[in-house]
Amino acid sequence: MPGTTPDSSLDPASALGPVEVRRSARRRRTVTAYRESGRTVVLIPAAFTPAEERRWVAQMVAKLQTREERRRRSMGGDDDLMARARALSEAHLDGAARPASVRWVDNQQRRWGSCTPADGSIRLSSRLRTMPAYVVDYVLVHELAHLLEAAHDARFWALVARYPQAERARGFLEGVESARADGVDPAGDDDLVD
Ligand SMILES: [Zn+2]
Repeated sequence: MPGTTPDSSLDPASALGPVEVRRSARRRRTVTAYRESGRTVVLIPAAFTPAEERRWVAQMVAKLQTREERRRRSMGGDDDLMARARALSEAHLDGAARPASVRWVDNQQRRWGSCTPADGSIRLSSRLRTMPAYVVDYVLVHELAHLLEAAHDARFWALVARYPQAERARGFLEGVESARADGVDPAGDDDLVD
């Protein structure tokens, strides 16, 4: 990535973690900000002056913060997540999957969710908080199904397929993963520089 400027001094107190500004020669009139591995990345045109950089970075960080706070509220805490998991189990798995605990975790950057069938615990990556509700529900159903079938075998996928939006949600997550590999964040939006 040309022109990478790691800069954690911009907003050290930010809940969004250190801010990394990347200048792109290909970028002319758009600024993009997204979260990546505990950092906030802001992509700006290479031609920006230092003043423009400061202004846009501050603006985009504030915008991300507002959006994350809004989504955190709407997605709720661990109790809400447990209630959601119970409702999904009732609706799609005949109530057979009974998790002992369901909670958000911040340390899962690669996996969307994980499950320990032995103690009935389910963990969801807090990265999912910024994604559509049907995607969060899919990951919950996926982990709930693991309480009934640990392996990714035919029986497991038949359980998951009972959730009507499973296919659509898997497509969404695959899109997020391949876009990340290309250094683009589909969940972040481009802001036109005016
Ligand atoms: Zn799985």
